[in-house]
Amino acid sequence: MLDINKIRADFPILSREVNGKPLVYLDNGASAQKPQVVIDAITTAYSHEYANVHRGLHYLSNLSTEKYEAVRGTIARFLGVADEDQIILNSGTTEGINMVAYGWAMPRMQAGDEIVLSVMEHHANIVPWHFLRERQGVNLKWVDTDATGALDPQKVIDAIGPKTKLVAITHLSNVLGTKVDVKTICDAAREKGVPVLVDGSQAAVHMPVNVDEIGCDFYAITGHKLYGPSGSGAIFVHKDRMAEMRPFIGGGDMIREVSKDAVSYNDPPMKFEAGTPGIVQTIGLGVALDYMMDVGMETIAAHEDDLSHYAQDKLNGLNWLTTQGTTPDKAAIFSFTMQGAAHAHDISTILDKKGVAVRAGQHCTGPLMEHLGVTATCRASFAMYNTRDEVDALIDALELAHDLFG
Ligand code: PLP
Repeated sequence: MLDINKIRADFPILSREVNGKPLVYLDNGASAQKPQVVIDAITTAYSHEYANVHRGLHYLSNLSTEKYEAVRGTIARFLGVADEDQIILNSGTTEGINMVAYGWAMPRMQAGDEIVLSVMEHHANIVPWHFLRERQGVNLKWVDTDATGALDPQKVIDAIGPKTKLVAITHLSNVLGTKVDVKTICDAAREKGVPVLVDGSQAAVHMPVNVDEIGCDFYAITGHKLYGPSGSGAIFVHKDRMAEMRPFIGGGDMIREVSKDAVSYNDPPMKFEAGTPGIVQTIGLGVALDYMMDVGMETIAAHEDDLSHYAQDKLNGLNWLTTQGTTPDKAAIFSFTMQGAAHAHDISTILDKKGVAVRAGQHCTGPLMEHLGVTATCRASFAMYNTRDEVDALIDALELAHDLFG
């Protein structure tokens, strides 16, 4: 069982007040807070261990390189990837998916080819594919969620046709909390010879993930949602896809030799990591993932499961609130609108006055908002350090907003 008092004590920001009230931070879907060990690792790296990586023959450069490179192994362990050379370090999911779009998809796709997407994708897993639509005439094929926000894997499998060159799908919706059975999709797609990219930005935070078991071709994660620094992240690329992929960004580090007439490249994964990387951010991410693994992903998932059910019951009791996404095993992410009342931004402003931080808007999911028939929602998204008391604080603040606007 998760020791909630210890966990909360590990995150210094949680003890501050906002607007004279104890902070209730429920905007974890946007970005999570950082434990002291991550903050300390950043300070130590800059205070005592900093130099550029892969470049020098001096002590600090070697130390920095060692710490930075060790994170590749930590990420592989965290994601259940046996071969760490299949992990490309980057600044986050947006960079990872763009790398696949430019380096792997663009050279392989032609007018009329198709990419299958779900309607609940984040813009980071939509806009790079729109580039292929605009520039190369690739068609985007959308699969809808049902009324509960569930995505039937069979509907995704059925959408794969002879022209499909890629399935790009989220593992867990950042708006609905819906979990997607990506393994079933990957098994079927592999039989049809179609690679699958999984956006793991949200799933990797809330549940144990084993990429080798899922059997996908690409799996993207982003460090700042994983209690690590912003500007850190990684993408798993299966070695067969890596062999097919062109470098997306050119520069130092990713080359073997450069002359006036020719260039040859470093071995993968370095071939796909150009320029000075986010050294300290990546080191911080490694510490964050170790922290999560020490707590235990099963333990985190069980704690958040309890919060999810508790919050679902409480929110269901507010008959003037419409909650989007009601699958029974959903993650503790709740998007809602207040019937006949204020705009999501006004509700979040009232909540903020009570110290409750939520996000309001489209959550970078334009097609999902269209599908749900809403212009915006408020989103309360929970993390391992949240408590049932904080669910109660959210409900109290919502009741206040309802009194004011309802
Ligand atoms: N995919 C999902 C599901 C997300 O929730 C997010 C961030 O909100 C992203 C992708 C983009 O992540 P980043 O902005 O860190 O690249």
